[in-house]
Amino acid sequence: MAQILDGKAVSAELKEQIKVQVQGLTTKPGLAVVLVGSDAASQVYVNSKEKACLALGIYSEKVELPADTTQEALMAVVDRLNHDERVHGILVQLPMPKHLNEEQVLLAIDPRKDVDGFHPYNMGLLLGNKGKTPESLLVACTPKGIMKLLAKTGISLKGKNVVVVGRSNLVGKPISLLCLYEDATVTICHSRTTDLPAVCRSADILIAAVGRAKMITADMVKEGAVVIDVGINRTEEGLVGDVDFAGVKDKASWITPVPGGVGPMTIACLMENTLIAMKNQV
Ligand code: NDP
Repeated sequence: MAQILDGKAVSAELKEQIKVQVQGLTTKPGLAVVLVGSDAASQVYVNSKEKACLALGIYSEKVELPADTTQEALMAVVDRLNHDERVHGILVQLPMPKHLNEEQVLLAIDPRKDVDGFHPYNMGLLLGNKGKTPESLLVACTPKGIMKLLAKTGISLKGKNVVVVGRSNLVGKPISLLCLYEDATVTICHSRTTDLPAVCRSADILIAAVGRAKMITADMVKEGAVVIDVGINRTEEGLVGDVDFAGVKDKASWITPVPGGVGPMTIACLMENTLIAMKNQV
């Protein structure tokens, strides 16, 4: 029976550390979150980010724009926030409405304020990194949170087989790099991978970031593997991950639940990135 990697508890610890640090600062870190349109899931994420800022003493600004906002208007908001000294971190909630050019918006964010770590400048720094990832680097929040959860197991990644299912810029690619820098042997899988179950069974650490409810079943997991479930899928039975938790928990040594695993870590790491961005700028 697997031990639970409790993202709620680990994120609470991290947030407490951030709160204490922020209390001791004369310049308070600031985060601006921009939301275009009224996507229900995005609203929930944006509200929880705002709540976390308030709880930790981080200045927060929520910019809500209508769904038909033009590219020019959105670019003007980003430009204003780039020049606002109270704001050290800017996050434009994804996905944006289809008529907007997402890449152009993300490119316009000052890389020093890119708390999501999605700007090519920060992605490039991560790619070019050698050895341990520096504290000052703005790394995408979800992969960063996963690394903190893995550290809680006390298991070293050195020489371990890590299998990442999913190759997105948001999760799959950056988490693969972070594991590589911890000296793991990393395999990245995707929709064209041949015999995914066999590749997954080779994993000492299996990270699922796909967006398909319960696709990782017990027969795909090696006895004693650490299983990290990034997926968030809204189904009739509520929120479920990419891992069939009920079946896999009896085989894994550690497993993250959904909800309450990777999700809370993402928000805590966003707060941490805002603090890092402030320190880098001031
Ligand atoms: P993307 O849709 O960008 O990427 C999904 C990846 O899964 C792609 O690389 C795709 O392959 C791969 N894939 C799709 N189907 C299969 C399959 N049958 N077998 C193997 N691989 C497959 O998603 P994201 O990376 O943005 O997100 C993944 C999941 O994580 C989502 O459920 C999302 O909601 C969740 N998420 C959770 C966060 C959290 O805080 N907990 C934060 C961010 C995301 P290909 O490239 O070939 O298409």
